[in-house]
Amino acid sequence: MTSFSCAVLGCDGGEERDYALSDYEGARARWCPGCGDHSVLTAMQRLLAAEQLVPEQTVIVSGIGCSSRFPHYVKTYGFHGIHGRALPVATGIKLSRPDLTVFVVMGDGDCTSIGAAHWIHALRYNPDLTVMLLDNGIYGLTKNQTSPTTPQGWASNTQPRGSFLPALNPLSVSLGVTNASFVAQTAEWAPAHLYATLRAAHRHRGLSFVRILQRCPVFTPALYQQAVQDPARIGLLVHDDGVTVPELDKLYTTQLRHDPRDLDAARRLAEADDRTWLGVLFRDATRPRYEELRRIPPVTAAERLSRLDAELSRHAV
Ligand code: SF4
Repeated sequence: MTSFSCAVLGCDGGEERDYALSDYEGARARWCPGCGDHSVLTAMQRLLAAEQLVPEQTVIVSGIGCSSRFPHYVKTYGFHGIHGRALPVATGIKLSRPDLTVFVVMGDGDCTSIGAAHWIHALRYNPDLTVMLLDNGIYGLTKNQTSPTTPQGWASNTQPRGSFLPALNPLSVSLGVTNASFVAQTAEWAPAHLYATLRAAHRHRGLSFVRILQRCPVFTPALYQQAVQDPARIGLLVHDDGVTVPELDKLYTTQLRHDPRDLDAARRLAEADDRTWLGVLFRDATRPRYEELRRIPPVTAAERLSRLDAELSRHAV
């Protein structure tokens, strides 16, 4: 493995440190066998090792759901929060510690239902976060309840005669938010594409929103079955400024050269119902980031104490 010095990585100890894949392994994952979350975890750990992200300068924030157990399984800092609130927690971390690398993991219920308002506003605030939506089209942790991305007609415990409404499209919603700067889609059963997309998202400055199509073999086993079994249903968006995965050329022969700066084309691709497009739909690295606009000068512990003393003195009797 290549050697990186701490100075290069942003800490000033000067000591040489290498991080292997095993350095990022946390507790043993307890998802069901065959769950797509395992694939995302592997891609994530590969990314951390490849980018040599310092574990103590990396944070993974999640809400509630099967995928939200993620922080337990990666040996970095982590915050397993409350339902739908991963994004405000992550934004707060980024605002107070812009030097940290922050990842967010949410399920479709977590992000697009109870967390929907936070999702919209985080996209607009555009802090430098890598946000993964693991979309299996169902509430899995609470055992088979309809979520906003459950396809219309799909039976669940909460809507046993089938979901009444057409599913919400997380890509279209994200692309409709003012100041959104990076929107991509990938699938956990295409690990090379998943990895390349997460890498592109991580390297983007601003909020990178990645919808990951994720199989839940327990509650929605048929949801992505056709796309998995028939590669003709998948199309790859390729561009020098997007994600290219040459090893998938033979499997996914439908490829479209799509310029991620073209927002109108991105919206059309997000709405396409004849094919599932994987790749970067939209990217604009020039969009303002909230932590830059609201840059708060760093405060030392001594300064904090002195301010606290002054404040307490104000109230002294
Ligand atoms: Fe994964 Fe579904 Fe099991 Fe949850 S219920 S761990 S999403 S397979």
